[in-house]
Amino acid sequence: MTERVDHRVRDDRSPLDPAVLAGAESFARSWATAVIGSSYVPMTRAEVAQHLQDLTEMLVEALFASPFRTAPGYEIGSRLVDAHFTGTDTLGRTIQLLGDDLLAELGSAGDDRLQSRLAALQGALAAGYARALRERTLAEQEAIRAAVLDARDQAEAMLRASEARFRAMFTEAAIGIGIADIEGRILDVNQALQDMLGFSVEEMRQYNVRDLMHPEDAGSVWRLYDQLIAGECDHYRAEKRFHRADGEQVWTHLTLSLVRDDHGEPQYQVAMIEDVTDRHLLQNRLRYQALHDPLTGLPNRALFLERLGRVFNNRAKHVRAGLCYLDLDGFKVINDSLGHDTGDQLLVEVGRRLDHSVSGEGKLVARMGGDEFVILVEGSAGEQDIVDVADRVLTELEAPIRIAGHELSVSASIGIVERQLSGTTSADLMRDADITLYWAKADGKARWALYDPERNAREVARFTLSATMPRALERGEFYVEYQPLVRLEDSTVVGVEALVRWQHPEFGRLAPDRFIELAEETGLIVPLGRWVLRKACEEARRWLEEFGDAAPFVSVNLAVRQSRDPELVRDVKRILDECALPPHHLQLELTESAIMGTADEPLEALRALCDMGVRIAIDDFGTGYSNLAYLKHLPVHELKIAGSFMEGLRAETEEDPVDSQIVATLVQLAHALSLGVTAEGVETPAQAARLLRLGCDTGQGWFFARPGPPEDIDSLLRGDL
Ligand code: C2E
Ligand code: CA
Ligand code: CA
Repeated sequence: MTERVDHRVRDDRSPLDPAVLAGAESFARSWATAVIGSSYVPMTRAEVAQHLQDLTEMLVEALFASPFRTAPGYEIGSRLVDAHFTGTDTLGRTIQLLGDDLLAELGSAGDDRLQSRLAALQGALAAGYARALRERTLAEQEAIRAAVLDARDQAEAMLRASEARFRAMFTEAAIGIGIADIEGRILDVNQALQDMLGFSVEEMRQYNVRDLMHPEDAGSVWRLYDQLIAGECDHYRAEKRFHRADGEQVWTHLTLSLVRDDHGEPQYQVAMIEDVTDRHLLQNRLRYQALHDPLTGLPNRALFLERLGRVFNNRAKHVRAGLCYLDLDGFKVINDSLGHDTGDQLLVEVGRRLDHSVSGEGKLVARMGGDEFVILVEGSAGEQDIVDVADRVLTELEAPIRIAGHELSVSASIGIVERQLSGTTSADLMRDADITLYWAKADGKARWALYDPERNAREVARFTLSATMPRALERGEFYVEYQPLVRLEDSTVVGVEALVRWQHPEFGRLAPDRFIELAEETGLIVPLGRWVLRKACEEARRWLEEFGDAAPFVSVNLAVRQSRDPELVRDVKRILDECALPPHHLQLELTESAIMGTADEPLEALRALCDMGVRIAIDDFGTGYSNLAYLKHLPVHELKIAGSFMEGLRAETEEDPVDSQIVATLVQLAHALSLGVTAEGVETPAQAARLLRLGCDTGQGWFFARPGPPEDIDSLLRGDL
């Protein structure tokens, strides 16, 4: 992730600042001109100007207020309606003028904080305006309905007057009115409705109400219509689209009322239709702005999450979906070295390529923020579908991008999740995509990775282990087992290897391959290793006291990180002193990589230990990349041949000549350098016999004994077994 650029400038000026006041006045004048040009208002120009001056001041105050609230915007919208500023263009012009001029007049153009506050106020103003206008329209509608009813009920003389009143209202009303009989035959429509739909009365009379159905009408519109015609309800309101004569469409608020005859039987229907297209478009624009990223024009995080939520809400049982979670590699470097403008242009181009490579029904490309993008594929058929998308995207990004004379190469890492939606949640999907993206990065970038529940489970377990390890050491959950190192010649136990285990409260007994590497990563290996060393030395001291000359040395594994710990020599010396253990009763096992090809420091430490009298063994010899020539310069006493070479010596009859040759060579080599040789992993008598014949000194393995508690070694030494 890259940091977002923050262009914001704090504007600390107060709304009472004279420059601000002057700006507000000038804005109010432009506003008055716009409003007067778009509505018929029963006020003098000066009155209009004064009214809008008041509203402008309210707006400016809201803009700078702390805490910020949108309620004043709503209030201003409804006051515009109260003042009869309700021409068809009034709202549109007002919103546009606010966006174009207000901040400039106030001398704050380009201030992002004010810009976003203003956008919020514009939205609130539109909402307040729409609400007030709706209320006023409903009041008008009620009056018209009352007039219709009046007309029916009044005496003849009255009737004529009422008729005339109704006619006047019908003709003059700003709102569209249509009357149809109960079969839906259109009887009359007023001028406003003719203008709105672009058909004359005569043309309209050819139609049945049902002909005005729009393919995208909500189902409820026509369900309620049937109920009304059947006399089950007296009116209903709906939002509905109509086709105009010129092929355009009109968004309306529709109120349909039933007129009954003297016996209460349904007789007529009266439709009152208000054109809300402008407001609708405005709402759409505001909604679009809220849901799209201004830089790339792609859907933003909010829209993506909304869409994802919808996918999950509509899910049928076996529906699947997939996600590509994409993050550019090294974007921060480009941003920092070439500047944010270049970074922005790069994001635009990447967005364009993504959009280009992923198109079609059910696919959505969104920018999540920074250099993160996401591709949602609804109704995928399986993992391969999404892998194909990811491949296409990676290919699409291969061609260098030219910006301001630079040829930039970008690559991206992609996390892929694809699954059946039942049994999972959108939060699961996002979390897994995020984890998988991290894998793609960790595996080397410029690639995709596919979510793998087993890998995740392993990582979660690893994480749990590494998080609980420090407490485990304090709580004494670790313990040490010992495995004898046996002289092949006469089966004497000459040493024992200390092997650590973890009695985990949740996972049970854990072998070192589950946690040693983790401990190396976290650094806990240093205190853990020190603890094993002390434990082993204490045990060695006990054996020394009990068995004297027959006591074995203890062989303790030393991890790479420990071998580089500057405190190593001091720690070992202190522990030997505290246990009063002669140094030659301790052997330290290091892997080849810990000893060879490293800096001088560990070597110095080894020399110091060697000088002290501690034995040094190379563990798992033959599996690394040993520089054999180097071996003779090292302070080493023993080579431990890795157990993998014992495979070929398993049975006398089917001996693997290669393994056998290697072991023979290693033994000769060790002896040529005056080193002892221990063979690990000895499991069968045949192996033991073969090793003896090859001249190997010591053996370790299940054939002699499995690792066990120190008491097992006691029994061995006493000859109890
Ligand atoms: P290693 O040093 O090579 O230890 C020998 C491993 O071989 C031990 O596994 C032991 O149980 C196993 N083994 C013994 N005899 C046989 C046999 O006949 N056949 C087979 N197949 N295996 C045999 P373990 O105890 O699981 O230890 C695994 C590794 O963990 C050790 O390999 C060592 O590298 C590391 N480790 C164990 N304890 C410590 C420790 O205290 N500190 C550090 N740094 N590493 C340790
Ligand atoms: Ca070892
Ligand atoms: Ca080993």
